[in-house]
Amino acid sequence: MADDLHTRYMRAADIWDAYRAGCTTCQHDTRCAAGVRLFERFTRLQDAYLNRS
Ligand SMILES: [Zn+2]
Repeated sequence: MADDLHTRYMRAADIWDAYRAGCTTCQHDTRCAAGVRLFERFTRLQDAYLNRS
């Protein structure tokens, strides 16, 4: 289970990084609507991964 969570966490991080690299809005600390969704998914998975027991 932990491995699966880690995979999803890494994938969300990759997707967010790739999106931000190509979005001029998200590169300046002001996330667009699509960026907010990707960032929230990334932080949710990151929190779940870091707080896993
Ligand atoms: Zn954006």
